Amino acid sequence: MGEGYQEKLRRLAELLLSANYPMALTGAGISTESGIPDFRSPGTGLWEKIDPFKELSRSALMRNPARFYEIGLPRFRQIRSAEPNPAHLVLAELEAHGYLKGIVTQNIDGLHIKAGSKNVFEVHGHLRTCSCMRCGKEDSFDFLVDLVESGVNPPLCRFCQEGVLRPNVVLFHDPMPRAFYDAAETLQYCDFLMVIGSSLQVYPVAYLPARVEKLAIINISPTPYDSKALVVIREKAGKVFSDLWEVLRQKGKV
Ligand code: NAD
Repeated sequence: MGEGYQEKLRRLAELLLSANYPMALTGAGISTESGIPDFRSPGTGLWEKIDPFKELSRSALMRNPARFYEIGLPRFRQIRSAEPNPAHLVLAELEAHGYLKGIVTQNIDGLHIKAGSKNVFEVHGHLRTCSCMRCGKEDSFDFLVDLVESGVNPPLCRFCQEGVLRPNVVLFHDPMPRAFYDAAETLQYCDFLMVIGSSLQVYPVAYLPARVEKLAIINISPTPYDSKALVVIREKAGKVFSDLWEVLRQKGKV
């Protein structure tokens, strides 16, 4: 018989407490309990009618920016209005208590930062700012949203008045940003990585866990790294991290 949930939680706590440089790698699955659907779980509404890999790619933005925003804006707005759930909040508390050095996230929802985490590598960007595809100047994402909602679509840069604005997120076909290389460098020090809510199918991020000595996977469906992990918990992230907090509390660590 396999190891029970409580036993796995205790092992997760021990691995975390005994690590020198514990970190987390998060994906869309950590934010589903905040109401943001992931890409791969079946039956969730947001992405069912469109193929984000096609419709929200850089080439789609270049080809027809107005359509990109027609499709993208309702999704971006939903993502921006979401609030952190217990998994985000416990991770922020773990960092504040010195039990977590940082978080590498594939999410663009900014929920780790909203939850209070400090050392966050947003390797696919975020929806706080946008930038001009012509002159490169940055603006707030609110400015972009206001423009499109007032009927200015495609939204144009207020500095050069000519370039179309784009969200500062990594679209399909985009190169990886600086944050990705910074995360990869920091992960060299990491000896224990908790992967939370990621199918680990999106590259190059999916290469990152390969070099870390000890892994724990908290994901409701299997991942290609499960056989390498010391602990695999197939439960919802919100429950796992609320329960982990309780284990740490009982040990007198928080
Ligand atoms: P993914 O959709 O490929 O995988 C998510 C995984 O999370 C799945 O394996 C699923 O079984 C699991 N999962 C779903 N709900 C869970 C829960 N409550 N607890 C634990 N596990 C849960 O996501 P990915 O690996 O992050 O890759 C998708 C890409 O899409 C990423 O690049 C990401 O940036 C982007 N994306 C981001 C958001 C966001 O910002 N919230 C949302 C959708 C997609």
